[in-house]
Amino acid sequence: MHTLVEHPCVQHKLAIIRDVETGHKRFRELATEITKFLCYEALQNIRMKDVTVTTPMSDAKCRKIDSDLVVVPILRAGVGMLDGILELVPTARVGFVGLFRDEETKKPVTYYERFPPQIKGGTCIVIDPMLATGGSTVAALDLLKQSGADNIVVICIVTCPEGLDVVEQRHPDVPIFTAAIDDHLDEKKYIVPGLGDAGDRLFGTSH
Ligand code: URA
Repeated sequence: MHTLVEHPCVQHKLAIIRDVETGHKRFRELATEITKFLCYEALQNIRMKDVTVTTPMSDAKCRKIDSDLVVVPILRAGVGMLDGILELVPTARVGFVGLFRDEETKKPVTYYERFPPQIKGGTCIVIDPMLATGGSTVAALDLLKQSGADNIVVICIVTCPEGLDVVEQRHPDVPIFTAAIDDHLDEKKYIVPGLGDAGDRLFGTSH
């Protein structure tokens, strides 16, 4: 279950963030801006409750979000999407999953995990800009579910058919929101055309 967000505002920003000439400052800003739009879409069906609010004129029947929100960046690149989520839902709690890709096996290894208790009963938003092989996303979803989360969405900026297949096979209940489904993974498991190494471009660590 995945949603490709094709809104012109998202696609325009995606064109700029992909550009090899875009430097890390602008890259970071764009990651935040794109994430905000994707989060807006991802929260479309979040649980709401009826409330009555007293305006200066009278009572108004309104609706408010009725779910604890927990955003879970996958370290390190997921941190580049955190501000975008928090700008939209500033009261969200933040958990972290630290995974690195073993360059030989290409498999994720967990080195850090810390979740707020609200993952049980709340809505978890897992963020990672590049859903490539799907290995890190599956590992993060496994960890969250083992810790009691049962309502999770994934937001990425770019993915590819291989990664989507892996996550959807292993976690068919988890909706995925993305700005792009690219062509393929190369032999180093980078997305093509993608946008390169998102962590390096976000944090200015590329050579
Ligand atoms: N991680 C990245 O940063 N980029 C890719 O293309 C794949 C994984």
